[in-house]
Order: sequence, then C-alpha cells, then structure tokens
Amino acid sequence: MPTINLNGAQKNYGVNSANAVSDLDLEIRDGEFMCLLGPSGCGKTTTLRMIAGLENLSGGEIRIGERVVDSVREGVFVPPEKREMGLVFQSYALWPHMTIERNTDFGLRLRKLPKAEREARVEQVMQALDIAKYRDRYPSQLSGGQQQRVALARMLAVNPGVLLLDEPLSNLDARLRLEMRAELKRIHKEFKTTIVFVTHDQWEAMTLATTIAVMNNGTLQQMGTPNQIYDRPANRFVAEFVGSPPINILELDTSDMTDIAREAAVFLSARHPALKGIGAIGIRPEAIGYTADKAQIPPGSFSGEMIVTGVLPTGGSWILELRSDNNTLFLTTSVLPRVEPGSKTHFYAETSALHVFDKAGMRIAEADALLGAAAVN
Ligand code: ATP
Repeated sequence: MPTINLNGAQKNYGVNSANAVSDLDLEIRDGEFMCLLGPSGCGKTTTLRMIAGLENLSGGEIRIGERVVDSVREGVFVPPEKREMGLVFQSYALWPHMTIERNTDFGLRLRKLPKAEREARVEQVMQALDIAKYRDRYPSQLSGGQQQRVALARMLAVNPGVLLLDEPLSNLDARLRLEMRAELKRIHKEFKTTIVFVTHDQWEAMTLATTIAVMNNGTLQQMGTPNQIYDRPANRFVAEFVGSPPINILELDTSDMTDIAREAAVFLSARHPALKGIGAIGIRPEAIGYTADKAQIPPGSFSGEMIVTGVLPTGGSWILELRSDNNTLFLTTSVLPRVEPGSKTHFYAETSALHVFDKAGMRIAEADALLGAAAVN
C-alpha cells in the first residue's frame, strides 16, 4: 500500500462550529501500525472517517501515494468503496442470519471472486484467527471476543491495503482485550497490513503501535514511536496524557512556587544558564528513587527532603505519595517499601530523567543534551 498523506486536513461539521480537526499533517507509511490517541472529542474518529472517505474534508487534502483522494481545492473526492480500505468499528455489526463462515465470506462474495479462490481465502483467515471451529455457528452463539475476531476476519479476507479500526476492543473485558491486542499484533505481522487504530487508551496505543499520533482539540500534538512519546513528550499535554500514575509536574513559572519547585529552579540554573527561567519540569514516577540516608543519593541528582504520606499497593508494585509543605510527588517502585507513612525521606532523580518545558508548555529539546539524556528511537 502506498503511503497515505494528510496535508493540512481540516474538518468543520457546521458553519459556526469549531473545527473538529485542524490543519492536520499525518503520514501513514506502508506496513505501519498507527494509533491515533487522545481524549474524547479530540478528533480521532473524524480523522479515521476522513481517511476512509466517510467524511469529506473542509480544507487540505488526502493523498494515497500520488493519487489525490480528497481535495477541496482540486474538487476531488474519491468515495470509500474506491479507496481499498477495511473498516471495523466499535460495534462490529455481523450479519445475524449468516453463519460465521458466510460472514467471513461476505466481502469476497460482493467482489464476485471465483468460488475456489474465495473458499481458500476464507479458510486461511478463519484458521489465522482461530474461528474455523465456529464456522457453522451464528454470531449470537459466540462471545464478544469471538465476534470481534469474525469482524476482523471478514475485513482481512478481502485483503484491504489498510485496516481502519475505531476502538474495536472497547466492548471487551480486560482479559479479552489483552488477548485481542496480542492477536492484532500477530495479524499485523502476519498479514503485513497497514493499520490505523483509534483509541483513547494510552496502554493500548503503547502496546500496539509502531507509531502513535497524539491529538488534542483537533490538532496533532506529537507523532512518534511509543518510546519517543513516553520518553520525549513534545509538550506538557503529551507528557501528562501518557503515563500512569501521571508525570509529576513542578511549576516554575508562578509567583507561588512550591519549595521543591524553587529548589528545582536553582538546581537547573546552576547546571547551565540556558536552563534559567523555564516554565516547568516533569519527572515520571518510576524515575524517582527514595532513601532515608542522604549519603545514598547518587551524586549529581536532583533531590530534596519530603514526608511519606501514603504507601499504595498496586499488586506487585507500589505507589508512594511524598509531601512537603505545599508539594506532592508520586513515585512508583517494584520493591516492597519499608517505610511508614509520616517518616521523612529523601527523593532523588537523575538529571537525564528531568523533562524541561518552556513557559508555553513546549519541551526544551536542547535541555536533554545539557542534562545528559540519551537519544530515544
Ligand atoms: P471519542 O473518543 O469520544 O469518540 P474523538 O476523538 O473520536 O472522540 P470525534 O468523534 O472525531 O472525536 O469528534 C471531534 C469533534 O467533532 C467533537 O467535538 C464532536 O462533538 C464533533 N463531531 C463529531 N461528529 C460530528 C457530527 N457528525 N456533527 C457535528 N459535530 C461532530
């Protein structure tokens, strides 16, 4: 499948309404598993529907390879059935009166392929998705997860160049979701299909995607590998949206700075003049260590003294809540904490774990090198 390009794509549903999607540039390369990630209402579904051809653009263009499929300026709009894409939505709408085999065969019949070819293809995808044993059943006789697999099989059978999936796992319970994620990863590898997947679930995106596009308010915030999104968030929105428990933010651009934030400001400006007068720093909970013994703090780390105010077991790991007069930090540890709430402790974080943002909330990329952070792929 050629690369899909959205150039300045825009969607406005009504004359006076705000843009659902604004000025969106997106490149989806062959074989990519791209997750569109963002909070409810940020424009993920609209973007997917524009790619599918179910919505026309209000501005900008979409190209598939060299072929323009939607452009207001050029007056071009290629309908969905001519874009060779498969769509699976949250409700996967199988035909209730058709057996699983007939449902899987549905798209191929529409395409009027020779019977032998159809049968071979249906068998191949039913085996791959482990639904061959249900071939004679009807959808109502299958569980949600099994129905989900049939919906995917029906799409894969017609061998679409691109598979567009809109929150397809949201109806499933936690265990099935996990199984289906593994399944989707396997399908992606085996069928080498380009996949565009809409989700508001950060873990889903982190575990599935080769590339994540984070959106907010109809605009693209960052596009990158899961590691880049997590370890080098381009702005505070991405930093705070991705990660659980969320990243700790110390506000440095405020008149009522907390004591820890003040210490951070002094610490950073002492490291390099370019780190003076910044907006905020972020520290991920797992990047924070703690010790009662000040001598154990790794040299050169950013550190301070706080009180342990909470120890929260999360099953195999723990969240510690630390407080000083007017500041709260959360850290995570996989080692059983031997601290009592109310005891004093020193927290510390290596400089390479500090995320530095300017006053507009944008990452100061130059700070990474100054603080010794390695490149992330
Ligand atoms: P969710 O995760 O809740 O599905 P989303 O990120 O997929 O959200 P969209 O469904 O793309 O977001 O919606 C983006 C914006 O466009 C929202 O403000 C929504 O209310 C608006 N919108 C979506 N569809 C329509 C429509 N058919 N008519 C008018 N406004 C719409």
